[in-house]
Amino acid sequence: METVDVAIIGSGFGGLGMAIELKKSSTSSFVILERAQSVGGTWRENTYPGAECDVMSVLYSYSFYPNVWSKKYPAQAEILAYIEDVVDAFGLRGNLRFDRDIESVTYDDVSKRWTVRSANGDEVNARVVVSSVGQLNRPAYPHVDGFGSFAGPAFHSALWDHNVDLVGKRVGVIGTGASAIQFVPQVAKVASQTTIFQRSAPYVLPKENPAISARRKKLQGTFPQSQLFARAKTFALGEFLGLGILGNKKIRQRLKAMCLASMESIVQDPVLREQCTPDYEVGCKRILFADEWYQALIKEHVALETQAIASITTTGVTTSDGAHHDFDVLIYGTGFQTLDFLQPMTVIGRDGVTLEEQWNNGASAYRGVAVPGFPNFFMLYGPNTNLGSNSIIYMLESQARYVASLLEKARSAGQGVLEVRPTAQRSWDEMIAEFSGSTAWISGCHSWYTSNGRNTNNWPRATWRYQQMMKHVDLIDFDVRPSPALETSV
Ligand code: NAP
Repeated sequence: METVDVAIIGSGFGGLGMAIELKKSSTSSFVILERAQSVGGTWRENTYPGAECDVMSVLYSYSFYPNVWSKKYPAQAEILAYIEDVVDAFGLRGNLRFDRDIESVTYDDVSKRWTVRSANGDEVNARVVVSSVGQLNRPAYPHVDGFGSFAGPAFHSALWDHNVDLVGKRVGVIGTGASAIQFVPQVAKVASQTTIFQRSAPYVLPKENPAISARRKKLQGTFPQSQLFARAKTFALGEFLGLGILGNKKIRQRLKAMCLASMESIVQDPVLREQCTPDYEVGCKRILFADEWYQALIKEHVALETQAIASITTTGVTTSDGAHHDFDVLIYGTGFQTLDFLQPMTVIGRDGVTLEEQWNNGASAYRGVAVPGFPNFFMLYGPNTNLGSNSIIYMLESQARYVASLLEKARSAGQGVLEVRPTAQRSWDEMIAEFSGSTAWISGCHSWYTSNGRNTNNWPRATWRYQQMMKHVDLIDFDVRPSPALETSV
């Protein structure tokens, strides 16, 4: 069993960001446990054709390590290359442990330490655990009759089967979310027939993704700080659009008008227009950015099917009107299981209570990072820290810095165990509920952001406010106790 001071779970932007913060602090003893054989999180897993970020590249890097990107919006391979580069630039290779699919994380109140157990039997003993497993890591599939019975190739967008040749095939796609609108146009370029099953229409804005000029790239490579102004401008734009989602009615109406005008400029057919017009408040689900979505839908060999799916059969999909659609390949663009957060990992806290039991009324965590009853257990990208606009890396950086500062503050006070106070958690929950009230997320649509009408996943205020709040590190919100072993070298 390996014994360390801090065990980080996950090697995406969050886990690596946490590792970098620990390196900057006095904590040298840490490991990054990764279930796969390489780093990258969501950007390692989502390799579907057309996968690229819908946040502008200038904002899609750590603030302290800008990158020279090739396009306005970076593609999956380029982001993954950046993440690999980060590992080397910050000397993290030696801290990585691959093939560690974590099954359980168990606290022992006598030793005040955690045992982190992997599916392969490996165990790590740590004083502190930081889980950074993301919110979008477990594919969700539709609950429909006959699921799994399709005899041809069938796969989820996050588990793309690149061995399946789609050229000349009849392809069925279920879902019209952020992933589907990126891969459908690519599929439609080669398939003989593409049918998309839509349950609700997305709001889509044009993306416009030009290459970054050689001159600009040279400037950015020579003077990395030259990106700062563009970064601030892009951030401010995200904050402005975000106001519409958070509650500003004028901006919300403007966003809706922009989305519909963009759709109507491409889609002329009145039936298809009707089908492409969302029946819910703009911003309730993620607003999508694309240049090829509607252009794909108007192609002759592409069909948008809005009848509900009744069942999946060995040969295709039957819709509620009794029609049967035959396919050679079926692709699920049906998103992720987002409401259970850290599951299927079992996290057992101080009193033997699991995180799942603690969250039986919906997940919540103080500042999105800490839960009473789980001493020295922190989360990055936890409950209420997802965004409707702007870059999630900004949130992850704030969280990693906050956790590292908390540990440092406690260490300076000679303390090694931190457990958030239930009173702090309650005030936090009240604040989240209050600010969620005006957001588009709880205006009535079905999305991966809410559970029983409660906003469990998103940060309901301006993004900059979260960073300001996370800069304020105060042990008063925590019950702080001594730890038998403050640091064990790796
Ligand atoms: P998603 O947004 O949750 O979309 C899932 C889609 O599947 C929805 O259209 C949903 O319909 C549909 N669906 C589910 N069950 C269905 C059923 N039984 N019948 C018909 N349709 C069904 O998932 P995603 O597209 O994978 O995106 C998830 C998140 O990943 C995004 O919100 C975003 O945060 C992130 N993402 C980001 C990027 C990026 O560029 N940065 C790219 C891809 C994904 P309903 O809408 O009616 O539920």
